[in-house]
Amino acid sequence: MEFHIDKAKVLPKENLRSFLEGLKELGKLIAPLKKQEKFYFDVVDDVSKVELSYTRTILPPKKFLVPYRRERYTYDTVNLNFIASFKAEPQIIFGIHSCDLHGISILDSVYLKENPDPRYLEIRKKTVLIGISCKPDEYCFCMSTGTAFPDGANWDLFMTDIGDDYFVSIGSPKGDEVILKMKELFREITKEDLDLYKKSTSFKKSLFDFKTLPDLGRISQVIELEYDSPVWEEEAERCLGCGTCTNVCPTCFCYTEVDIPSLDGKTVSRIEFTTSCQYPYYSLVAGGHYFKPSRASRFKHRYYHKFVGYPYQIEKLGCVGCGRCSAECPAKISMVETIKKLRGTADEEELRKVAE
Ligand code: SF4
Ligand code: SF4
Repeated sequence: MEFHIDKAKVLPKENLRSFLEGLKELGKLIAPLKKQEKFYFDVVDDVSKVELSYTRTILPPKKFLVPYRRERYTYDTVNLNFIASFKAEPQIIFGIHSCDLHGISILDSVYLKENPDPRYLEIRKKTVLIGISCKPDEYCFCMSTGTAFPDGANWDLFMTDIGDDYFVSIGSPKGDEVILKMKELFREITKEDLDLYKKSTSFKKSLFDFKTLPDLGRISQVIELEYDSPVWEEEAERCLGCGTCTNVCPTCFCYTEVDIPSLDGKTVSRIEFTTSCQYPYYSLVAGGHYFKPSRASRFKHRYYHKFVGYPYQIEKLGCVGCGRCSAECPAKISMVETIKKLRGTADEEELRKVAE
C-alpha cells in the first residue's frame, strides 16, 4: 500500500549515486569526504568519494556559507567608487547532520534577522541544504541541546537511513524542485517505510548514554550564578588559548577586518576574516585596553556567549552539541565536563530532599 504524502519520498540506496550525479548538474556539489581517518566538507569531483559513514567533520559546512576569509568590498582610489566583486554561485551542501543544520539555523538568525548581510543572503538563496541522519559518538550531546533531529524550515531535504532506502523528508519548495528534477529515482512511501522512519527516532535515542549527557536545564541561570566559580580558573589553567574550539564551532561567527591596498595603490580591499574570542588581541581596543585580559576571563566568555548571550540575542542556545570543541581541543578540555563541574554534584534526589 502506498501513501501519497507530499512531504516525503523514498530514495532506494541503489539510486544514491545517480542522485549525487544529478545534484552535480544543479550546481557545485559539496559533501563529506575522508582523508587520513578525518572527515571534511569539500567540493566533490568524483561522487564515489562521498563518505556518509561519518560522525563529525573537522570543520562544519559553515565555511561554504561564511568563508573564513571574505572580501567585504574593494574601493577604487582613482575613480573614488566601490567595485562590486561578490557573486554567489548555486551550490548544494549534501550530507549535513542535524546539529549542523541547527547551527546554520543559528547563523540565519544572526545574519538575516536584523540588518541582513547581503552576501550571506545571496549565498543562502543559492544554496540547497540536504541533511542526513547520523549516529552519535562519545562527544555528541545534541540530545541535551535539543538538536538531535532536524526541525524548523531551514533545510531543503533530509534523508533518514531506514535500511535499504532513505526516507527523504521535503522541507522547502527548493527541496521539492530537486526531487521533481530526478523523480524517476524516487518512489512513494509505503506503510512499512513510515514505520521504519518512526522507529529511527527511538533508535537514535537508544545510541546515547543518558547517564553521561549534561543537564542543560536552566543553563543560562547556572552560568550566571556561577560567575565567580573557581571552576573557570581551574579549567582555564589547561587552556592554551589556541582558538581551535571557536574555529571548529558551527555557530561561532566573530570576525575582524583589515584593509589591504594593492601594490600600485589604485585599489584597497576590506577583508573580513574569522577570529576567536580566545585570542588576547580580540578584546584589545584603542588606547591599549584589554576587556578580557586573562585567559580565564576569555574562557568564561565563550560559555557566557553560548549559554547566556545567544538565548538573549536570538532565543536559542548558541551550542548545538556537535562535540567538535571537545573532540579537537589539544588540551582535552571538555565542554560537557566544564558544565557538569559548574552545575555541581548535587543530584536530583538530593535537591528534592533539600526542598522537603
Ligand atoms: S581549543 Fe582548548 S586549548 Fe584551545 S582555546 Fe579552546 S579550550 Fe583553550
Ligand atoms: S560550543 Fe562546541 S559542542 Fe557546542 S556547537 Fe560549538 S563546537 Fe559544537
